[in-house]
Amino acid sequence: MSVNLKEIDGVKIQPKHLALCHCGSVKIELDLPDGLIDLRRCDCSLCRRRGAIAASVSLDGITVLEGQEHLKLYQFNTNTAKHYFCGNCGVYTHHQRRSNPTQYGFNVACLEGINPLKVEGIPTYDGVNHPADQG
Ligand SMILES: [Zn+2]
Repeated sequence: MSVNLKEIDGVKIQPKHLALCHCGSVKIELDLPDGLIDLRRCDCSLCRRRGAIAASVSLDGITVLEGQEHLKLYQFNTNTAKHYFCGNCGVYTHHQRRSNPTQYGFNVACLEGINPLKVEGIPTYDGVNHPADQG
């Protein structure tokens, strides 16, 4: 099951939507011509602490407009996924996915004007039993 949305609580997702960390050091432009694709939560050891709702975008669909120097990289377990966060305010912005390295996941809560608490019916991925850990 995948959940896609073109607006949240009346706020339309722009084809090029701005995303900001909390302190505003990191400013990212996301190419979202089809809105928010594959919205999900995840219960892996990182996501359960982070608590963010993520959506997907292709690798070339993210442009860091400002604050590249503030982005910190965090990796764990197989060190496949690359999790980025603002080194100043600590907010997770995006990550290169392990289950699909041709995509980034990004923090829906960073989208300008979007209140993630208004999003309902988000499926939770089984990150404890990650597909990349099977077999
Ligand atoms: Zn910040």
